[in-house]
Amino acid sequence: MIIDGHNDLVCRLWRGDEVRHVHLDDARARDFAGGFFALYVPSPKPAEPTTPHYELPLPEPIPTDEAARVAEELYEVFRSLPVRLATRPDDFQPGRVAAILHLEGAEPLAADLSDLERWYGRGLRSIGLVWSRANAFAEGVPFRFPSSPDTGPGLTAAGRELVRACNDRGIVVDLSHLNEAGFWEVARLSSAPLVATHSNAHTLCAASRNLTDAQLDAVGGSGGVVGINFAVSFVREDGAQIAATPLEDIVRHADYIADRIGIDHVAFGSDFDGALVPEALGGIAGLPALVNALRAGGFDDEAVAKVTHRNWLRVLGDTWR
Ligand code: ZN
Repeated sequence: MIIDGHNDLVCRLWRGDEVRHVHLDDARARDFAGGFFALYVPSPKPAEPTTPHYELPLPEPIPTDEAARVAEELYEVFRSLPVRLATRPDDFQPGRVAAILHLEGAEPLAADLSDLERWYGRGLRSIGLVWSRANAFAEGVPFRFPSSPDTGPGLTAAGRELVRACNDRGIVVDLSHLNEAGFWEVARLSSAPLVATHSNAHTLCAASRNLTDAQLDAVGGSGGVVGINFAVSFVREDGAQIAATPLEDIVRHADYIADRIGIDHVAFGSDFDGALVPEALGGIAGLPALVNALRAGGFDDEAVAKVTHRNWLRVLGDTWR
């Protein structure tokens, strides 16, 4: 059974774009049991970086009322998916797909959190305070390579309140896309295991979106988990957008993070339908090949079970009410 930390299927369907990776009719055959399904209110797409080294500007903030309007439409797309809403770990079972309602960027929420309860009632169980832009709660990392994730200021007062509110309700706080100052503030404030749903090891790929060794250590020390991102630009040592990237490069990140903080803190966070992934993977159709690559890289049955689903189930169980 495979549980995944991040996909952008909802945004892709909302845009009317062709599904590239998350073909749900293929899920059962590939052992894909679902995971985090993002509601992402998109910024205008920047031009794809054409050089290995890039430094994209931080996109403009999106006003709350506009973000809330788009989020309603995204939520309707989410509700139309042929999946079970996941609010308990045992909603994940082999042979069916369960979806965690995840907000990637808290822009749709009012800064006074007056609508958080309504979203919780709809099943929202995971919030990334930011995507890679600023909002009322925090500031995300701009897409840069090579770059430290230490790119800007930490949380706002509203951001700190949102972390507390998530802890109170048992909502996952996702650290992927946060800048480093924000990361450390959440690490200090949060009483839950730290979670980065779709980020990799900065030591192996120096993208601003990846986690430094110190950040990895903090996630491990909290009992949390890092979802390995399959996006080639966050996997490859040269940060380049090259589809002919071997699955072994993904395994390197899993191996590095497991060596550094332990196998209990490594999982998948595909970024399917939101990023360019290795052509050898293609989408959920390639997950069995990725599992085979893990085994070939020395991951035994227990390690594979932890990476593919047990670690996510543990962290969700420790976080949700
Ligand atoms: Zn993302």
